Amino acid sequence: MDRAIFEAMINTRRQLHRRPEEGWTEFETTYYIVSRLKTLGYEKILAGASCINKEAVLGRSAELVAREKERAVQAGVPRAFIDACEDYTGALAVLETGRPGPVTALRFDIDCVLVEETDDPEHAPNKGGFASERKGLMHACGHDGHTAVGLAVARWIIEHKDELSGTIKLIFQPAEEGVRGAAAIAASGLLDDVDYIFGSHCGGKAKPGEVALVRGGVLASTKLDIRFTGKASHAGNEPHKGRSALMAACAASLMLAGIPRHGGGASRIAVGKMIAGEGRNVTPVHALIQIEVRGETAEVNDYMVENVKHIVKGAAEAYQTQYEIEKTGEATTIIDHPEMQKLVREAAQALPEVKNIVELSNPSGSEDFTALLKRVTDKGGQGALFRWGCRHNGHHKSDFDLQDEQSMPIGFGVFCNLVKKINSAAC
Ligand SMILES: [Zn+2]
Repeated sequence: MDRAIFEAMINTRRQLHRRPEEGWTEFETTYYIVSRLKTLGYEKILAGASCINKEAVLGRSAELVAREKERAVQAGVPRAFIDACEDYTGALAVLETGRPGPVTALRFDIDCVLVEETDDPEHAPNKGGFASERKGLMHACGHDGHTAVGLAVARWIIEHKDELSGTIKLIFQPAEEGVRGAAAIAASGLLDDVDYIFGSHCGGKAKPGEVALVRGGVLASTKLDIRFTGKASHAGNEPHKGRSALMAACAASLMLAGIPRHGGGASRIAVGKMIAGEGRNVTPVHALIQIEVRGETAEVNDYMVENVKHIVKGAAEAYQTQYEIEKTGEATTIIDHPEMQKLVREAAQALPEVKNIVELSNPSGSEDFTALLKRVTDKGGQGALFRWGCRHNGHHKSDFDLQDEQSMPIGFGVFCNLVKKINSAAC
């Protein structure tokens, strides 16, 4: 790849790695992306609230956002920029070539994970002096690399725009972790004219030098926050007058693990977090459990959600508490468009660095690119998700790494080759 683009891409990744931001608080990251896109010459850039449907936002805490906004202002992001974004993050750039042709969208996610980076001196970001400067937050899923690839692709597109036709939309998506961000972009309607959409993720089962075509195995998933509210009482005097939210949450948690498996495919249930109670001698008034379900098909996932609702209702009734269920994230399964898989395969085959191309279809994690692909498919378009490999030591771990100089050029190359194939002005 072009040396100048390569160097800028690596610098971008390392710069972003230093400043990780969790979902819906990516103010420094969004400002960085928008500034770079402007410098590159993009004229149509939508940022924050203008590239989402606020009604469809999932898993965003207004309190956390308010706090993080001040932190970002301290770090140098102009307050006017965040105000103009209405305190939302993410960006969408549109390049109209002026020549008739298809509308192609490329998606790059930008948020980090709540993981503390290792202090192991052998860990590449420590060695290279670009480790996370923010305690407890880390780009431990490689979205810094995704964003850097996206900006490199953005530059390549501008530099080659005279050879391209149609329209290209570059999506820098917030809050992929917890599958929270894509739904609001899908619901914005901004992708309804898209003919082709592509997304990627580093690592996973793809090894260094490999490109993986994701044909299945992406699990549909729903994330839920469940709150029980009881009644306080003196635990010695009047235990009979209290209503324990903690007991309701515990009973629900144990029952959730016992939901009968669905015959139609693999499923998952996890009660990941519980916060409950006020003090040793008080009947607990508040309890929160954060759970997720997954399913090999949307039907299996819906079945899990339905069972969760019954169990929560039953446990609340058993302990005479109130309850509330809030959806904080959602993703569906991947739609397999064989024609698009073929295009990605050809785009990868054309890269000398790619040693191997594999296909993935076993149940694994979830990915909210599926929400964008579903929207585009519902409106008559197509798309695909692929992985570019790296040696990562495990996603969401403190020693996650992606060997930026070796792995990112492959992601970059596949995206550019796809644009070349689909939006070439030559034909
Ligand atoms: Zn990820």
